[in-house]
Amino acid sequence: MSNLSVPNAKTTPENPHLLPGTLPKGIHNPNHRDDSNAAQVALIETLSKTKTANCYKCGKCTAGCPVSEHMEIGPSQIIRLLQLGNVDKALRSSSIWQCVSCLTCSSRCPKEVDCAAIMDALREVSLLQDKVNPQAQQIVTFQRAFLDNIRRNGRLNELDLIARFKSTVALRTREFSFLFKDASLAPQLRRLKKLHLSQPRSKDLSVVDRIFARCTEIEK
Ligand code: SF4
Ligand code: SF4
Repeated sequence: MSNLSVPNAKTTPENPHLLPGTLPKGIHNPNHRDDSNAAQVALIETLSKTKTANCYKCGKCTAGCPVSEHMEIGPSQIIRLLQLGNVDKALRSSSIWQCVSCLTCSSRCPKEVDCAAIMDALREVSLLQDKVNPQAQQIVTFQRAFLDNIRRNGRLNELDLIARFKSTVALRTREFSFLFKDASLAPQLRRLKKLHLSQPRSKDLSVVDRIFARCTEIEK
């Protein structure tokens, strides 16, 4: 994953506060939100069951986030974007896809803002509205391949996952060298028992089908 940086962003784990004039380029402070932005914020807040207005920008979420240094916009800045009604920038950000859902931000927040749930909601809406950042396409492809793998096998089949993920990316980008990228790590992963050559399917796939059907039902 590329290490993205925003020249104007001065927020770091050591200095997590959003200081005036240190916001990334393009984040302005409009006097009011337009209706569509307000509706988008309401949608994110409904999906995440959290109120962005409760955030008082202490920066504890960004300071604790294990991947914030790789994000172009840190978690506290994402919340700030929503407060300012600049939802589109959040939806199109690659940062929401770099989030690994570790929940550290939510557990550290003194105002009970569920930042991890907001990241999750942003990803959902970003996908629905076809606003996924081009740099995050591989992450989305991996997540889809992972879910498809579980749906078909009932448990993770690592070789099948790697094959489907790599072939999908290689076909889309026409970069066939991607198929063999990282292949030299396989022996080491085998030694560490992190890569299994065969993985039996789950005995009762109907249980997995029911879980996926229930998820689809909830999403409607
Ligand atoms: S979401 Fe919580 S932890 Fe993060 S800046 Fe806002 S108040 Fe602080
Ligand atoms: S849930 Fe995401 S945003 Fe929050 S601390 Fe973990 S990686 Fe960072």
